[in-house]
Amino acid sequence: MAKKVIVLSGASSVGKGKIKQLLLQDKELDLRSVISMTTRPKKENEVDGNDYYFVDYTYFAKAVKDKALYEYTEFNGYYYGTLKSEIDFWLKQGKNILVEVEAQGVGPLKLNIPEAVCFFVVPTSMEELEKLIHEKYNDDAASERMRINKAKMEMEIAPLFNNQITNDSPERAYEEIKEITLREWAKLEEDEK
Ligand code: 5GP
Repeated sequence: MAKKVIVLSGASSVGKGKIKQLLLQDKELDLRSVISMTTRPKKENEVDGNDYYFVDYTYFAKAVKDKALYEYTEFNGYYYGTLKSEIDFWLKQGKNILVEVEAQGVGPLKLNIPEAVCFFVVPTSMEELEKLIHEKYNDDAASERMRINKAKMEMEIAPLFNNQITNDSPERAYEEIKEITLREWAKLEEDEK
């Protein structure tokens, strides 16, 4: 059975969340969201087991040692990782899945799941992105600076991605991702025949 996997990544704070939401609501794509594991503290509006699996460092370190993750990274002092069990669970049931990771996670995922269609969301300009980060983290100067620096690094590697999607509007970006995905999945099915 063809592995139908979308990997959604992008520059820090570029607005992947809204695009992800639109993709998950799409009946034709029929995606399941893969839940990552993190050591980051849960925010008030988040639900354990829905937004992330919130765990402590000891638990995360054991998952790394046990090779339970397809990839993991450290960001802003916290660890984030993609559980093999989460992906394998959905794929075994023949479901289509969406994995959201920051830029460093894309390479290892593509190595483990070569069929994955990977997208890197970029802003209309670096100035626009700095504005978005400022709006989001204006009460925390250290976080703001770090996210801007990370976004700058991510924008440098953006050209390495086959599918760069400009977030000029979340609806348009979602439509473009959908179109490319359906085309790639059709090719996968053809190859399987
Ligand atoms: P946040 O703390 O804002 O929820 O996430 C911070 C960053 O970590 C985001 O760019 C998000 O895409 C990324 N992220 C979330 N889960 C994973 C994961 O499992 N692996 C990797 N590499 N990045 C992740």
